[in-house]
Amino acid sequence: MSQNKTISSLFPGATIGILGGGQLGRMISMEAKRMGFNVHIFDPTPNGPAAQVSDKETNAPFEDANALKAFMRHIDVLTFEFENIATRALRQLNSDHMIFPNLNALEICQNRILEKNFISSLGIQTAPYSEIKSVEDLTAFLDNHSKAIIKTATLGYDGKGQAQIDKTNFSDIWSHFNKNQPCIVEGFVAFDFEASALCARNHSGEFRMFPIAHNIHKDHILDITMVPAHIDDNIIKNIKTLSKAITSGLDYVGVLCIELFIKGNEVFVNELAPRPHNSGHYSLDFAYTSQFEQHVRAICNLPLGNPNLIPGAAAMANLLGDLWHQHSLGCPNWKEALKVNDSKLHLYGKKEPKLKRKMGHISASASSTIQARKIVEEARDNLLKS
Ligand code: AMP
Repeated sequence: MSQNKTISSLFPGATIGILGGGQLGRMISMEAKRMGFNVHIFDPTPNGPAAQVSDKETNAPFEDANALKAFMRHIDVLTFEFENIATRALRQLNSDHMIFPNLNALEICQNRILEKNFISSLGIQTAPYSEIKSVEDLTAFLDNHSKAIIKTATLGYDGKGQAQIDKTNFSDIWSHFNKNQPCIVEGFVAFDFEASALCARNHSGEFRMFPIAHNIHKDHILDITMVPAHIDDNIIKNIKTLSKAITSGLDYVGVLCIELFIKGNEVFVNELAPRPHNSGHYSLDFAYTSQFEQHVRAICNLPLGNPNLIPGAAAMANLLGDLWHQHSLGCPNWKEALKVNDSKLHLYGKKEPKLKRKMGHISASASSTIQARKIVEEARDNLLKS
């Protein structure tokens, strides 16, 4: 245990604990280790992507209060790499341990109803929404919104637990929805494009925002990110103002991803991811400070780094397990992909390339987002060459 517990900042030599051992934990860990921190992972499954690059791991269920207590004795600060962790066991630890982001913020981000209520309470625009408990609630909402999306309030990600509805199909879809958990319905926003604002705040209230990213999804999973998004300076100012309000309203410490819909001059907040985010992976190679380093700086209350892009533009393409299945040899052609100049390959050390599973990404920098996108797509296409 480091000597820094009683002072307000943690320095290299201290130990960062991460709940969750996937690719985000891996990239936080790699950056933390580069900066001289120790990293201890807590995850039920041994030798996952994060543990492979960390100092130590504890394998136990996330709800195991005793294992968590023992884990906490060996770390100086606790953070998360995913938000869907039951906070009950952590609540018992909270009073005497450094846990960032704080558990109130985490609980708000875990529940779409609490999240939208919080964002609306700040006067920030979201899609119109309503909590749904019965088919009558749905009928009433559809009286005012011809097209809508019904979502489970908790545990939804990558489009899971949601369905598009209208007056013709809603009762059918509702009958298949799991009514044991709270649901929300949202009016459909006919946005021009989706974007994300990655921001960071440390204990001292210092705030930094990465350039706005333009995100393209395929089957509800992020496919391509391009940075910087081409949006008007006034909209960027507006996004910065709302991001500051959200992070300080949550008393947030760490990196927070604010997912947005952009429609003309209008900005809608879709959801909050209380951690580094897939749309910020380009920053590992092409920003002065990566989102993972920024997260480490924030939770250790160190000065935040410059989040700007190294001059130029950047893009990122996700590599899903599907690529392994699509290739006749059962393994992508790395050699062909690496022939593409200026592309960078990142793999997460996952053993099983399941369909839709994020296995890695390719990023590139160029003079324009269009050119950067072309490079990452060419490199990804080459993975399928025989
Ligand atoms: P979510 O799980 O809320 O991020 O939703 C997954 C994807 O569904 C988003 O990235 C959007 O492409 C789409 N989506 C979600 N909510 C809405 C909405 N209210 N209007 C239009 N599209 C939406």
